[in-house]
Amino acid sequence: MMLAINYSEGKVNQLDVSKPKGEGILVNISTCGICGTDMHLLHSGMHLPHIAGHEISGFLQDGTPVAIEPLNYCGSCAECKQGKYNLCSSEEFDILGATTDGGMTEKMLVPEHCLVALDKNMDLKNSSLVEPIAVAVHGYKITNTKSKHRVAVVGGGSIGQCAVVTAYWMGCEVDLFARYDHQKEAAEIWGANEPNGEYDRVVDTVGNPDALAKCVELLKPGGKVIGLAAGWEDITLPGLGILNKEGSFYTSRIYDASGDNGRDIDNAARVLFENPEFGNKVITHRFPLDAAEEAFKVADDRKSGSIKVVFDINV
Ligand SMILES: [Zn+2]
Ligand SMILES: [Zn+2]
Repeated sequence: MMLAINYSEGKVNQLDVSKPKGEGILVNISTCGICGTDMHLLHSGMHLPHIAGHEISGFLQDGTPVAIEPLNYCGSCAECKQGKYNLCSSEEFDILGATTDGGMTEKMLVPEHCLVALDKNMDLKNSSLVEPIAVAVHGYKITNTKSKHRVAVVGGGSIGQCAVVTAYWMGCEVDLFARYDHQKEAAEIWGANEPNGEYDRVVDTVGNPDALAKCVELLKPGGKVIGLAAGWEDITLPGLGILNKEGSFYTSRIYDASGDNGRDIDNAARVLFENPEFGNKVITHRFPLDAAEEAFKVADDRKSGSIKVVFDINV
């Protein structure tokens, strides 16, 4: 048996489950992060029958270090054929940790295509961050963001921090609008300061009307707002504000392999490999699986100083 986490009726459950059996590659999970989506699912009160967790790093039976692209797609629909498997139209499309078992446990079986190769010099305990970084990589890709663009990020949580480090990695000048001092401090290493002036790209990682108004305020005429917030709420933009700048709003759904640069998540592994300090800046709290309730509590309370909370499992 092994320990696993899911949620129901707004509560975090610790379960004893059988070790996984069947097809796929066995991954010994090293670290699994708690994401805003996990918090949302928890608070929604829904019963998640599957094991939670989609930000996963681990190692194979032979010791090979990996991160996980937590998607199972058909590979044969029109979208998949273009590499846009984030838009897979198959009914069998799964997100590991949401619609099928995820990584808040000790071991999991995944299809081989989920594996993300990691450099052996990367710290496996920080490599669950490859997944949220891929969200940022995708947002910049679909908006054709280049090093010449000035980027502002609104929201200093973990997706905001991922958007900052990814813009830095791309060679962009990047600033951060964040609520808490510890969030601002974490981003300073990438040269991100309080925004000033207007920006070619503004990344929304919050999703509420105030944040979106801030995005439009910071936008240059003709600029693009990149929506990386999870999209649980309606997208409310100031009408005249965005009209008078002829700005565009881009939705961005997880990550894919469209375009010429391969999978977003492989590029995200490069971002983390080349910026190894990122993990220690952003992962503020680590818990064992049997302290799941406390871990979710800390993740939910920004005043705790938390940015990213992770479970350390087979460390
Ligand atoms: Zn997530
Ligand atoms: Zn498909």
